[in-house]
Amino acid sequence: MPVRVLTLWILALSCWMASAAQQSVEVRVRLRKAQRFIDVSGFALRISGPTHAMNIAIPPTGLGKAKIVRQGKGQWLVRWDGQSAPQKIEADQLWIKGQMLRLGVEPVPYALELHENSKQGLDVIARLDLESYLMGVLPAEMPASWPLHALKAQAVAARSFVLRSAFERRDQHFDVDSTIIDQVYKFLADSEAHPEYKTKVLRAVRETRGEVLVDADRRTIKAFYSADCGCQTEDPKYVWGVVDVYTSVKDPSCKQRRPMTWKVTLPRAEVRSRLLAALALPDNSSLRALHIGGRTPSGRVADVVASVVSGDNLHRVTLNSQEFRRIFGFNRVRSTDFSLRWLGDELEVNGTGVGHGVGMCQSGARSLAEEGMRYREILKIYYPKATLWTLKRT
Ligand SMILES: [Zn+2]
Repeated sequence: MPVRVLTLWILALSCWMASAAQQSVEVRVRLRKAQRFIDVSGFALRISGPTHAMNIAIPPTGLGKAKIVRQGKGQWLVRWDGQSAPQKIEADQLWIKGQMLRLGVEPVPYALELHENSKQGLDVIARLDLESYLMGVLPAEMPASWPLHALKAQAVAARSFVLRSAFERRDQHFDVDSTIIDQVYKFLADSEAHPEYKTKVLRAVRETRGEVLVDADRRTIKAFYSADCGCQTEDPKYVWGVVDVYTSVKDPSCKQRRPMTWKVTLPRAEVRSRLLAALALPDNSSLRALHIGGRTPSGRVADVVASVVSGDNLHRVTLNSQEFRRIFGFNRVRSTDFSLRWLGDELEVNGTGVGHGVGMCQSGARSLAEEGMRYREILKIYYPKATLWTLKRT
């Protein structure tokens, strides 16, 4: 039984008792989702099926470059740069190994797996030990120039998040996405890392080694975090409909700092067309009104109500505020704490905070750490119902 499966099995059996005896924990990170092919390059590049003896594709010498195409179920084509005849490999998965590996131009860890995904495409997965994985998450999710204790709080949150995610996805071929869908991971190639920041990130990860947040049943929590809570964190049941160990808390860092604010102006024609498309209403419908339907206890918008006239019918449609963000772009409507007002033919959206607002507020953690607060206290503020626990081995 592979170590990883064994580890997950043990952890599942003990209801993710954080004290469970563990082997080294491995994280399967989906680096990329591709439609049909990837371009890969590296020194000593090897491409093979999972059984070593089977169908190994080997480049001539030096830097190898290859295009790997998924042809069909269990069928791959490897086209080496400079070689006219492609090589066929039959396998469910493909393994790629090499030094200074790159996917396109992006540096990636030295060993990758290609998996067929449920569609016609392929998933590029890297298996990493938990602590090395965190080395790639930390500087991608929080500037390494921020105080050490903010980075340490971030390390504990990210470690908890990925372990819970791995448990939830134990039947899938990856544990965590490398994008904002889960948490951002960027492989830190030695040549590209700033030495001072790398040392600091390493310290934040090492000095919190094995530390996670657990609930009353000792289950690792999915420790969400966001850029700026706008002075009051959100209960996740208003974001994703899940009830967890979270509670909305007032951010004490707001005594010293002002939360981020933002404004976006949307032309009426764009508001109308995006809404009609999202609601699947005819193009000739007209938008009568758009207003905030209600707010959550933290003050954020719960839903937005649109009144649309289509033919002889008046549709009154309620949109969840997350859906509203998605329709107009998460990068433009940056949080759900906003107000709406029409200025002639433009809709002005004014907001506070950035992100979903659940769990740790990263800007708040920075500010509290700058005042000298330690990471354990910071975590207690943003995850008041969780307990810090140290895994035996990670
Ligand atoms: Zn905050």
